[in-house]
Amino acid sequence: MTLHDRYGLTKIINAAGSFTPVGVSRSTPGVAQTAGEALQDFFVIDELQDVVGQALVRWTGAEAGAVTHCAAAAITMTIAATMTGLRAEAIAALPDTTGMPNRVVLPAGHAVDYGHPIVQDIRLAGAQPVLAGDAASCTVTDIEDAIAHAETACLLLVSSRLTRGKAVDLSAAVAAAHRRGIPAIIDGAAQDMRIPDLLATGADLVLVSAHKYLASPTAGLAIGRRSLVQAVRAQEKGIGRAMKPTKEAICGVLAAIEERERLDLAAWRRKQDDKIAQFVARANALPGVRARAQPDPSGMPFSRAHLHVDSTRARLDAPALFAALKSGTPSIWGMAHGLADAELILELVQLEEHEIDAILARLSALLD
Ligand SMILES: *Cc1c(COP(=O)(O)O)cnc(C)c1O
Repeated sequence: MTLHDRYGLTKIINAAGSFTPVGVSRSTPGVAQTAGEALQDFFVIDELQDVVGQALVRWTGAEAGAVTHCAAAAITMTIAATMTGLRAEAIAALPDTTGMPNRVVLPAGHAVDYGHPIVQDIRLAGAQPVLAGDAASCTVTDIEDAIAHAETACLLLVSSRLTRGKAVDLSAAVAAAHRRGIPAIIDGAAQDMRIPDLLATGADLVLVSAHKYLASPTAGLAIGRRSLVQAVRAQEKGIGRAMKPTKEAICGVLAAIEERERLDLAAWRRKQDDKIAQFVARANALPGVRARAQPDPSGMPFSRAHLHVDSTRARLDAPALFAALKSGTPSIWGMAHGLADAELILELVQLEEHEIDAILARLSALLD
């Protein structure tokens, strides 16, 4: 009996990507087994952190790494780290930042909402978010002006399809921060396959969700400069108490990293491309639907299916189709961000063939 049957839970086909409201990802049996084993025993947590730190170094080539409860926790703990360093008194005082630099500068278009506003992660550490530029554009000069203030703790950048406005040149922004002696942090939560690119910008820390495409139990990764990673870990004796990684998450991350190191990325990519190409071809046979594959705008190595729904030829328009998919059984979750442009967007990365067949069968039943 599945958990869904036992507890009367809604069965879901998740075509919405690594989406928090539906449980983000599915771990492999190997990762799940490792996490399950960890739950049944004791560990010296500092030792687990050291071991996963070494695994992160081996996998990413960075100087150091640590695990936090999730990426949101990693953002708050990293900002805390840039304000306190390793000073125990300052760590214990947060979120009271008296006597510490506490301005966190971010491009206005990077003030994303990934289920809550990212600026709240900044405020949670006691820091003050300061937006540079405006939603349409933020230049390096805008960033330089904003970080010129003496009380600046760090520059926060976001690498995500959720950012708005003209793309910020991350390397140039990091270099501007470093010219001022200010650390630069990149939130690349859903970009675990781009960690080397993000580190190559020169950022001091790159923050990632391990439960998104790496598909570990819920965990955040802070990867980069050793002194800052140490200061992130030190927050576990401060505000980070509420953001600590669990033993099962750390062990699950270890197993997920080992599986990723064995993954043939080129073959994985081909499989994703084939999956999308076949889906698009079949979706193009539906009445009123014009389907195409669209690469991830933030550079992750896969495409999504964009279904343009012509409501003069289809029985439902895109928003009605989206809602009808969701209210059926199983409940099919698509992505909502293209609906205003009459597009239903589906991410297939995590889906198995029978689930893709089920989506096409439902689309056909709704549209024919
Ligand atoms: C998902 C996401 C987060 C938060 O990640 P969690 O690990 O769920 O806390 C932060 N920033 C961005 C851009 C995200 O997409």
